[in-house]
Amino acid sequence: MTNPEEYLSLHGVKPTAVRILVWKEISHKTRAFTLSDVENALPDMDRSSIFRTLRLLTEHNILHEIDDGTGQQKYCLCRCEDDHHVNHVHFTCTECGQTYCLTDYAIPIVDLPEGFIPKDIEYVIKGICHKCSRM
Ligand SMILES: [Zn+2]
Ligand SMILES: [Zn+2]
Ligand SMILES: [Zn+2]
Repeated sequence: MTNPEEYLSLHGVKPTAVRILVWKEISHKTRAFTLSDVENALPDMDRSSIFRTLRLLTEHNILHEIDDGTGQQKYCLCRCEDDHHVNHVHFTCTECGQTYCLTDYAIPIVDLPEGFIPKDIEYVIKGICHKCSRM
């Protein structure tokens, strides 16, 4: 991945020390994460600056906010090639509660009735993940 300063600047985010630290922590993630996950990984940083950073990165299309039905606000990295409003497929494990980003799987496009205009497409599959299904 490109260096954090460059990546953030490219997306219109001023690369401050806090933002760079948060970005380094989340940029390798292949699963969706919560504010608490980032907080636990960066114990020296206060919750509100982490929260503000995640919000900012979301506003600048670096992150997606996702609702996987667990009732927890989760975020994941944007890996969109073109339309940011069509996120990749997610798989939420009902055993461990992890939400995986299945970035190689395309969301099936649904033909909507006349007059219905889609804005955001989220696709969440619920089931048992590869780790839990082996137990
Ligand atoms: Zn995106
Ligand atoms: Zn699982
Ligand atoms: Zn994702």
